[in-house]
Amino acid sequence: MGQIDSGLRRNDELRCVALAAQFDSCESDEPYRVFFASHVGLHRILWPIRAPLALSAGEKTQNRGATVEEKSMAYRRFIDAHVHYPQTAFDPTGSQIPAERQLQELMEVERALGCRRLCMLSTGNPPVHDAVARLIDEHPDFVIGFGFIRLGVDEPSVVDKLGDMGFRGLKTIRPMDNYDSKEYYPFYERAEARNMPFLFHTGQLFRAPGSGSREEDVSTARMMPWMLDPIARAFPKLTLIGAHLGSPSFAEAAWVARWNENVYWDLSGPITVRYGNREVVHDMMYQAVAGAGITHKLVFGSDVTPPEIPDVVTAYDTFLDRLGADSLDKDQVFYGNMARILGI
Ligand SMILES: [Zn+2]
Repeated sequence: MGQIDSGLRRNDELRCVALAAQFDSCESDEPYRVFFASHVGLHRILWPIRAPLALSAGEKTQNRGATVEEKSMAYRRFIDAHVHYPQTAFDPTGSQIPAERQLQELMEVERALGCRRLCMLSTGNPPVHDAVARLIDEHPDFVIGFGFIRLGVDEPSVVDKLGDMGFRGLKTIRPMDNYDSKEYYPFYERAEARNMPFLFHTGQLFRAPGSGSREEDVSTARMMPWMLDPIARAFPKLTLIGAHLGSPSFAEAAWVARWNENVYWDLSGPITVRYGNREVVHDMMYQAVAGAGITHKLVFGSDVTPPEIPDVVTAYDTFLDRLGADSLDKDQVFYGNMARILGI
C-alpha cells in the first residue's frame, strides 16, 4: 500500500479496518447463501472483504481509536458503473423475489460496502425507464440513471427524451448492426452534445441453454471492442465505457483505451468468472491491461446480484494489487474516474 498522507483518503479507505476483526468468527465458506433465503445479514455480506485489508503497522495503530460508527463504515468508496434494474427473480428455494425487494437489498449491500453512487441501467424488455426515473427522483444523491438504448429499434430522439427524464448516461447492448455503423451516429452525436456517457456491452453475450432464434438476431461480433474505436474518434467529447473488458478479447479492449482518451472499461463479468478458470482469465486480463498500460482507464462495475457484489469488490482489489496500483490509483478506478465522467 502506498504512502497514506491525506486525512481524507484515510477516512475514506481505512476507517473501517477493524471491521475485519469483528467478523473473524464467521467461518462460512458460502457467505451469500442465506441472503436470498431470508434477509440481508450484514456480517455475511462484509465477510468476503476481509481479505484485502492489508494494513501497515502504522495504519493499524491509528485505527485502534476508531469509533463504532467508523468501524461500521465500508473501507473503500466506490461508484458502481454497472447495475441493472432488478427484474423479478427466483431464489434458490424456488420462491419469487419481487424487484422492489431486490432493489432494497441492492441498496443496502452497495451502501454497506462503501458505494457512493450507483449507475442504474433501465435495461429490460421493454426498457424500464419510468421505474429508474422514479428511483432517480427518490434517491437523487445515490442513484444515477443510465437509459437503455436499443440500437436498430429506437429513434435517436430517445436520447433527448431520456436526458429530459433525468438520465445522466446511456447503456446499449444487442445492436441490430455493428456499434460503429454510421446509422447509429445520430445517437452518439446527441449523447455527446448532452454530455451523457455511453456504456456499451462488449464481447461475449450470455446465452441461456435452450434459447436462441433467428428473430432475436443477436451477434457478439457486432459488439467487439474495436467497434468503439471509430466512435471514440468521431465523437471526441463523448465518453465511452466498455463493459466486461471486451471478454474475452481483453487485449483488443485494452489497446482501444490505450489510444482513445475518451474510452474506459469495466471488468464486470470476467473479474468474477464462474464457468471458466478464473486464474487463467485473470492472467489474460492482466497481460492485456498491464501490456497496454491502462490501469488508469478502468472503472468499477459489478453487473451481478447483490450477494455477489462483495466478490466483485474483492476481485477488483486483488487484480489492482497485481497491477501494482497504490491506494490512490485504486481510488481512481473505484471512484475517481466515474466521479469525473459524471461531473460529481
Ligand atoms: Zn450488464
